[in-house]
Amino acid sequence: LAGNCSGWGNEQTLVLVKPDAVQRRLVGDVIQRFERRGFKLVAMKLLQHYQQLCQKPFYPALLAYMMSGPLVAMVWEGYNVVRSTRAMVGDTNSADAKPGTIRGDLSMHVSRNVVHASDSVETAHKEIGFWFQRDELVAWESSDRDFTYG
Ligand code: ADP
Repeated sequence: LAGNCSGWGNEQTLVLVKPDAVQRRLVGDVIQRFERRGFKLVAMKLLQHYQQLCQKPFYPALLAYMMSGPLVAMVWEGYNVVRSTRAMVGDTNSADAKPGTIRGDLSMHVSRNVVHASDSVETAHKEIGFWFQRDELVAWESSDRDFTYG
């Protein structure tokens, strides 16, 4: 991982914009939410493959869904980004996701819930390693840093 996770905005998380969202042209909306919050994009790619959720009981349907078209994988960086991103994404079941969250605003059903976001710092570390090579993460200084962190 780039950065040293010192609590000064170097935490990173993995976000997937799932195939339903790509088909529905929601990629820009999702990216914009993280940008406006102040997080920093450090990696992004469009690709078609998925193998992470093989332990889950709903695996065949989930796999078919995740393989149904391209998805966008991204790494976002910032202070408490894992926790904040989970809050922005909303409940797993779109029907319970609050208005204002990504799922609460953009989806209706648990099986087409627009995004994935890592659920802990440890998971984020593993998931980033699964989806990205080390040299695909771009280290850059954003010029608004002094205005987004006190
Ligand atoms: P989250 O994505 O909120 O972290 P989980 O890790 O529990 O939630 O589930 C992973 C994904 O599996 C969900 O985002 C959703 O797409 C799918 N999923 C979870 N529960 C169900 C369900 N009951 N029926 C269909 N798909 C489900």
